[in-house]
Amino acid sequence: MARARRDLGPVRSVTPESLGKPGQRTFRVVVRGERGEATVWLEKEHMAALVMSIETVLAEAPGEGSVAEGPGPGVRAEASAPQGERPVEFKAAALAIVYDSPRRTFGVLAYDADDASSSTATLAWWLTREQAKRLAEDAAEIVSSGRPICPLCHRPKDPSGHMCTETNGHQAAKDHF
Ligand SMILES: [Zn+2]
Repeated sequence: MARARRDLGPVRSVTPESLGKPGQRTFRVVVRGERGEATVWLEKEHMAALVMSIETVLAEAPGEGSVAEGPGPGVRAEASAPQGERPVEFKAAALAIVYDSPRRTFGVLAYDADDASSSTATLAWWLTREQAKRLAEDAAEIVSSGRPICPLCHRPKDPSGHMCTETNGHQAAKDHF
């Protein structure tokens, strides 16, 4: 399953962050996986796109079902970190979300901006459904910089009014503002 040149495996923690002042913020995701750590720098648009992608994949993937959440049966716990992997850090040109149905995990693939020629992802890490959901929520909050998130379209609600894409911006948008 060579989806990425580096695979961090199942994730212990994944933390979306923003740094800097409003208007000049930079964004990153800090990932701690079973096979190493990485810091992936992103544009705000990528962070927003990540939220939408996760929402989409979560909606399309089979539901919770009968299998317990948490490190699923397909996720092997590999305690030994192979060959002294160093933390990686790069600026991503794009992210992609995949669902691995046999293992019931959600993969995030990150593509290095300096390596646009390659079709192989630079980095992959794997999330449970719960982790994926939480990452989407955390990332949405960071993108909105504290503004409340609309429960329908998952975009930040503006104090001046909210044009909800889920209701085509009609009256219902006011009702749930
Ligand atoms: Zn909305």
